[in-house]
Amino acid sequence: MSALIAHQLRKVYPSGLEALKGVDLSVEAGDFFALLGPNGAGKSTLIGILTSLINKTAGRVEVFGHDLDREPEQVRARLGVVPQEFNFNLFLPVLEVVINQAGYFGIPRREARVRAEYYLRKLDLWERRETQMRQLSGGLKRRLMIARALVHQPQVLILDEPTAGVDIEIRRSMWHYLRELNDNGTTIILTTHYLEEAESLCRHLAIINHGAIIATAEIADLLKELRSETFVLNLRGRLTELPALGGFVLDAIDESTLEVEVSRGHSISGLFEALSRYGIEVMSLRNKQNRLEKLFLDMVDHRSDTATSSTPGQPSGVSYE
Ligand code: ADP
Repeated sequence: MSALIAHQLRKVYPSGLEALKGVDLSVEAGDFFALLGPNGAGKSTLIGILTSLINKTAGRVEVFGHDLDREPEQVRARLGVVPQEFNFNLFLPVLEVVINQAGYFGIPRREARVRAEYYLRKLDLWERRETQMRQLSGGLKRRLMIARALVHQPQVLILDEPTAGVDIEIRRSMWHYLRELNDNGTTIILTTHYLEEAESLCRHLAIINHGAIIATAEIADLLKELRSETFVLNLRGRLTELPALGGFVLDAIDESTLEVEVSRGHSISGLFEALSRYGIEVMSLRNKQNRLEKLFLDMVDHRSDTATSSTPGQPSGVSYE
């Protein structure tokens, strides 16, 4: 069953800018779905439409079979949203923020208090229940936004850049909680700039660019498409010449840093052995870029190739819209 369907969504802002150009999207119930795209691609506009903050120009939205135009209340009850901007009273204490939101969904105050405590504890905010929202750090505010979005127990949770500007430790604890929610059946859709976040959390993704979906894919399939990975190696001693190694493309960045492209089927340990035969010892190594990031860039490159020529051979795991 589909948790969410967007069909031919268009948005033309009063300025005349066409932010969405007929977006089709389908997210299955129980999925963990990433919507990726550069700034200005249309992600917030899309989320704004799904959550009735922005009026669409054309198209259709369905949430668990309920049409946004005909049954807005049914749709609203099923969606929880963590927006990018905090657009409400910053002087309210944490507990009141969550209880008020429950009231907005018609949940009686006594029940609201029980649920608020549950979610605030889950998100490690219970000790701060009397703190005013404005006194919370960015990471804590985000967690409060998640508690607030969950209090009416929506089937779909939509998060717009949930971990933007959040430090790594809080980000990891948020990931942990989002996984737990998803394991318990909540469908999660998030937009993110961090491809690592999508790779670590999500099962499916869609890439949006200039108001159009350019690719949808299962992340596991996508990662299998990786033909190579690039590593940056710090060497002990100085490199005098570049050895030629089969299966590895080497590039000297400076005399003690080497960039190596390792193609599929070749292992890092094989690389170390080959280098040691030339007396080159590796002190440390790191991935030059996140794996999904590489694919993303390949894909966007591929799209611009196909826009100007007819390069064949799309990766098989990716369906281009
Ligand atoms: P993203 O969330 O992917 O960064 P947005 O949905 O915010 O993208 O923006 C998509 C495009 O729509 C951008 O070109 C942006 O400048 C434009 N846009 C967003 N909001 C408005 C608005 N209220 N009026 C006019 N143009 C807008």
